[in-house]
Amino acid sequence: MSRLRVGLTGGIGSGKSTVAHMLGELGALVVDTDAISRQLTAPGGPAISAISASFGADYIDASGALDRARMRELVFREPAARHRLEQLLHPLIGAETVRRAALATSGQAVVFDVPLLVESGRWRALVDRVLVVDCSAATQVERVTRRSQLAPDEVERIISQQASRPRRLAAADAVICNDGVSLEQLRAQVAGLWNFWQPSRP
Ligand code: ADP
Repeated sequence: MSRLRVGLTGGIGSGKSTVAHMLGELGALVVDTDAISRQLTAPGGPAISAISASFGADYIDASGALDRARMRELVFREPAARHRLEQLLHPLIGAETVRRAALATSGQAVVFDVPLLVESGRWRALVDRVLVVDCSAATQVERVTRRSQLAPDEVERIISQQASRPRRLAAADAVICNDGVSLEQLRAQVAGLWNFWQPSRP
């Protein structure tokens, strides 16, 4: 049976993880590439020795994990360093993504949760549909400052490094609007779309 592959994306704070969770409840197998990346760079993770060799032990913290704040600063200053980190991580993330997607049962849709799907360019060919979760930048800032320690200007900086809203929307096969809607309204949108894409699923 053919299997639907969906690439799910959205800017920071758009509600992408919330939508991924809802799709999981509707029966999709969700592969969270950000979680894979975090596991690869957790204390003693499979990417740690390569990062230390390439960037120096200064980028590994006392717990043996990637020093994310330090690396974030470096890749913000130096695009070449960002490229080097991506070259190192992408094959590892790709291999683990494939391994997890293969766990889908017959006919079960797979949702690839990819924060930088539009930016990376390589995902389009790997999925049947691109689903974008959309909201205004003001809502993004409001949500992220509420859930994290980041200041508004730090969130704005992250937003400015991600694909622009029009570029992300242009890449979408479908858009979930998550501005000024309750979680219940969001759930109804997600269920409606899923019913359209997977009409005969149990
Ligand atoms: P992302 O994965 O895109 O960064 P999340 O799904 O983690 O975003 O959502 C960011 C925060 O906003 C979470 O705390 C989430 O519960 C909340 N949130 C998202 N959408 C809504 C909504 N429609 N109503 C209320 N809270 C929401």
